[in-house]
Amino acid sequence: MTRRTDVVVIGGGQAGLAAGYHLRRLGIEHVILDAQTAPGGAWLHTWDSLRLFSPAQYSSLPGRLMPVQEGDLYPDAAHVVAYLADYEKRYELPVQHGVRVSAVHRDGVFLRVATDSGDWRTRAVVSATGTWTRSFLPAVPGRHGYQGRQLHTVQYRSPSQFAGQRVIVVGGGNSGAQIAADLAVAGIDLTWVTQRPPRYLADDIDGRALFDAATARRHALDAGRADTGGVASLGDIVAVPPVRAARDAGLLTPTPMFTGLTPTGAEWADGTRAAADAVIWCTGFRPALAPFAALRLRGTRGRIAMEGTRAADDPRLHLLGYGDWTGPASATLIGVGRTAREAARDIRYLLR
Ligand code: FAD
Repeated sequence: MTRRTDVVVIGGGQAGLAAGYHLRRLGIEHVILDAQTAPGGAWLHTWDSLRLFSPAQYSSLPGRLMPVQEGDLYPDAAHVVAYLADYEKRYELPVQHGVRVSAVHRDGVFLRVATDSGDWRTRAVVSATGTWTRSFLPAVPGRHGYQGRQLHTVQYRSPSQFAGQRVIVVGGGNSGAQIAADLAVAGIDLTWVTQRPPRYLADDIDGRALFDAATARRHALDAGRADTGGVASLGDIVAVPPVRAARDAGLLTPTPMFTGLTPTGAEWADGTRAAADAVIWCTGFRPALAPFAALRLRGTRGRIAMEGTRAADDPRLHLLGYGDWTGPASATLIGVGRTAREAARDIRYLLR
């Protein structure tokens, strides 16, 4: 059976909900298809101690401020999940949970969205599939021969998974720093490996400044001025309180990247070896864009060329939430609202 609607939004995390909010405001008929059976997007899969980079009121989707979490300036993931669930309900967003999109095909002036529960025929698609379902692990010599446990960020929950073990955490970004801090404070035998020395943002900088920096960069690029460097110019690691506490206590000592894994641990170019029961790869994610393979929109470096939030080679497809290449701070709670509004307006124009 093929159903019809004007717009299909793929993904019901924060980006998909922000899209729904603006489409609804413009009176555009749409459906939001989300593979997960419950609201919350990626926030359902974070580790227990994760804290937002920004206070609640700076982590809000359009229309509704995130309530303050009692006792915590920086809310935890469960608080975000509750906020997203409430948001979905409050605005009566047409989210269908437990529906996975397998592919999007061209069908004349329409797009056909194939799912595990039938097809949709639509005039536009908003992709808000996020990145958390596509873990990235670097090709490191010896990785497949290593006999210990290997996890990616998405599988990490808490230090209790590693009681009495020697753990190597790989990655000098926010995930790596937060997970390393979590383990170090719990007394786990930790080696924290980073490709370059960790770059902390000043302690008084949080997500608000990141959002401003991303916005300034986009404005500069749009106006043909020099690249400000955006968020990358500030540093990599937001010194959220647990990271700051671990760093200041001298518990976060970085080690340069190893050259490879051995069956029992890691080894460095100078012959140093470290035994490890587990390696946690905090090495990032890639956009989950597999459903769009048939549209053949990927250009150099695997990226879909964009004009704002719209795919340059097919104006019926919009991308939200993956990073600065689809809009300034589009991958953040506070930033995605603006790009979602641009996408909804653009789609209204397309549907006239
Ligand atoms: P997601 O939340 O991943 O949602 C995508 C949804 O689409 C999921 O429900 C998924 O199941 C679904 N989906 C995927 N593929 C399909 C398919 N084929 N069919 C149907 N459904 C599909 N941001 C902030 O604003 N503040 C912070 O403090 C902050 N801290 C962060 C800390 C860390 C360590 C990390 C890694 C990220 C942080 N972020 C933060 C970034 C960001 O908010 C999240 O990555 C966010 O979850 C992205 O939202 P999204 O809606 O784009 O994607």
